[in-house]
Amino acid sequence: MARLKFLGSTREIGRAGFFLQEKDESLLIDFGTKFLDPPAFPDMIPTENLQGVALTHAHLDHSGGIPLILRNSEASLFCTPATRDLSLLLLRDMYKISGGRLPFDRKDIAHIRRQCQATAYEETIPLGHRFEMTLFNAGHIPGSAMVSVRVDGKRILFTGDFNATESQLNPGARKNLPKHDIVVTESTYARRKNPPREDIEQALMETVLGTLENKGTVLIPAFGVGRSQEIMCILERYNLPRKYKIYVDGMARDVNEILMRHPEYLQSPQAFQRAVGRVIEINDNRERSMITKKPGVIISPAGMLKGGASHLYFKMLHDDPKNTIVFVSFQIPGTPGAELLATRKVTVGSRTFDVTADVRQHHLSSHSDSEGMMDMLERIPGEPEFFVVHGESESCDAMAENLRSRGRVAHVPEQNEEVRF
Ligand SMILES: [Zn+2]
Repeated sequence: MARLKFLGSTREIGRAGFFLQEKDESLLIDFGTKFLDPPAFPDMIPTENLQGVALTHAHLDHSGGIPLILRNSEASLFCTPATRDLSLLLLRDMYKISGGRLPFDRKDIAHIRRQCQATAYEETIPLGHRFEMTLFNAGHIPGSAMVSVRVDGKRILFTGDFNATESQLNPGARKNLPKHDIVVTESTYARRKNPPREDIEQALMETVLGTLENKGTVLIPAFGVGRSQEIMCILERYNLPRKYKIYVDGMARDVNEILMRHPEYLQSPQAFQRAVGRVIEINDNRERSMITKKPGVIISPAGMLKGGASHLYFKMLHDDPKNTIVFVSFQIPGTPGAELLATRKVTVGSRTFDVTADVRQHHLSSHSDSEGMMDMLERIPGEPEFFVVHGESESCDAMAENLRSRGRVAHVPEQNEEVRF
């Protein structure tokens, strides 16, 4: 009888971790961080009998604690090559920002590359004597995967974060999944319905073009991994006139380089290449100040105006009604982005900025909404039992309730709860 322990992302978003044990062997899926001060991780697991670590995708709420595990174990890390390279970039950045206040160091992060066995989608890998693992495309960010594990005659799917709908950057998640007995699913947007993707893309283009034609500058604060590239691809897809320049700042520059090395994870490598060929990289404050003086589109982290270069741009652009600040992701309450959307003001330290620039939100989600998730989960053959994680507590409950109302068995596990099957 196998055992599955929910280490984290239970009734919360952050520190994902799932520990599978069968007799004397074990397997770990994800080991992420939660962005508290200092960052929080799942409780440590025994690593003596670990046969491998599977990583769904590069985002730090899934990958942030991997160095903690691998420095105590010879086990291999299994993920796509794109996930490996993006994770290393994000982990190094997290280390830099933390000022060394993490329970691991640069050497532990570097160690990941050596311990990683790059794994392709659909390839089945035996781990130890008791496990078999396969990655399926999850459609969330380039290289993202669902992890399917076979153990003791049962098959378990860990969805990680997924998006069933294709975007300009990512092909959608694999549609026809094989039979599973258990599914551990995310529920980020279990209480949300997204408008059709094309409507959001067109609304974004209208905002961008309207501002540029009015001789204003568009600032798009965006996360460097995935979202920035998605915007670049949309601007390319809808043929933003060449006379308008597109600038990228921050981590997106390195991410572009990584994705150019792994084109097989992109919806259209050619379109991405064209998009990258068109953007201008910005590297210092002199360039930053220069580009805000002419109409153009600036894509810069952080996505919620908290840190990164986006808040420098914000200070230069906020007091001119010709300019527009466009948010493209959910703004977590308490962040400058959420404050700006709600009040048209932003408080930085002791100073409050009144904003006369236009402020818009066009949410380009990289997760399925409630309908998209249900549709995908209901199609998994084998009448699987569901465990709902990775969402606000209310979202986990809503998703489990929705599954039950369709005659399915669904649970919302608590942190460190263990189930046997
Ligand atoms: Zn994610």
